[in-house]
Amino acid sequence: MTPLETLPDARGHFGPYGGMFVPETLMTALEELSAEYENAKRDPAFQTELADLLRDFAGRPTPLYLAARLTSDLGGAKIYLKREDLLHTGAHKINNALGQILLARRMGKRRIIAETGAGQHGVATATVAAHFGCECIIYMGAVDMERQALNVARMRFLGAKVVAVTAGQATLKEAINEAMRDWVTNVRSTHYILGSALGSHPYPMMVRDFQRVIGLETRRQILQREERLPDLLIACVGGGSNAIGLFHPFLDDRSVRMIGVEAGGEGMRAGRHAARFQGGRLGVFQGTKTFLLANEDGQIELTHSISAGLDYAAVGPEHSYLRDAGRVEYVYATDEEALHAFHTLSETEGIIPALETAHAIAHAMKIAPTLSPNELIVINCSGRGDKDVQQVAAQMA
Ligand SMILES: *Cc1c(COP(=O)(O)O)cnc(C)c1O
Repeated sequence: MTPLETLPDARGHFGPYGGMFVPETLMTALEELSAEYENAKRDPAFQTELADLLRDFAGRPTPLYLAARLTSDLGGAKIYLKREDLLHTGAHKINNALGQILLARRMGKRRIIAETGAGQHGVATATVAAHFGCECIIYMGAVDMERQALNVARMRFLGAKVVAVTAGQATLKEAINEAMRDWVTNVRSTHYILGSALGSHPYPMMVRDFQRVIGLETRRQILQREERLPDLLIACVGGGSNAIGLFHPFLDDRSVRMIGVEAGGEGMRAGRHAARFQGGRLGVFQGTKTFLLANEDGQIELTHSISAGLDYAAVGPEHSYLRDAGRVEYVYATDEEALHAFHTLSETEGIIPALETAHAIAHAMKIAPTLSPNELIVINCSGRGDKDVQQVAAQMA
């Protein structure tokens, strides 16, 4: 087998996936970013500054928590939660936002732009921009702004300008288009903090590397706690950053099984879900070659998920590669299953998860009872549910 951790190649290829499919005007900026990232990676001062921020500002390391009541209720494998929901701003997104704003500073770029779906990445970006006194513009679909009004208010409190994108489905895909358009126009002054392991090289690699801290800590913590590696890792997959962050440091440990959970929405009918590995096909979209939901003419299909953060037509290219390699399995959970898991975790553990995270919990609820009590599962608890309270309350009414 190819040593997975050496991927991607210099042009961002994960096997047949990935690459750099962007307008000519962005090539220079992406090459500059790649070069700066390579320098930063080898610069102890950069690594120290990032580690200090992750500890003192973001709240790392996050706990690895034994979900004892969930374990006993499900009656199978022992379940641990990696508590990314306890991070500052409420999700794993801050790990990547901190890494990238340090890069922006190294490049002398003081204007920060980002896209956001559920608003978690927008909040994380607005937060790090405020921390460093940078100008910040967040592009967000008008539909998502409505679904996630709390996060829109947070971004504004943090001094960011939130721009409503009304084109098309008015969700994440259109927000990325607008952010790309801005970047093409303002590339000299501006850094684009992309929020997931998506888009053109070097983003899928760089975002993965900034999120690997999740898996590295998990490995250390489970070894300390159980004196062995976990049997199964489970994470939800939107673009794929929290999943790849947890999985990547374990890829060479063949005994560790990994499952990524996509959004099954209302079931496997075209336009009603976001499970790219179920109904998807190979294509090029927003900078990268990967699995995506498109019709036979290559037209991007509508997507649906109860969770704005999983509601996107393409998946990060490294996940396509890991799926082909048979190293990671990909399944889906429906809106209904995610909602049920949201309530279950809240009531059994006193932890209200994000609706994205609830997809990972939902799959754990299916699989844990089929495993034996001496098997260990780690679920990435990617974020907390505060942002989803209104939406879920409305569903209950
Ligand atoms: C954004 C988000 C996701 C989905 O993004 P990935 O890049 O796939 O991790 C999942 N969970 C939470 C809490 C999020 O905010």
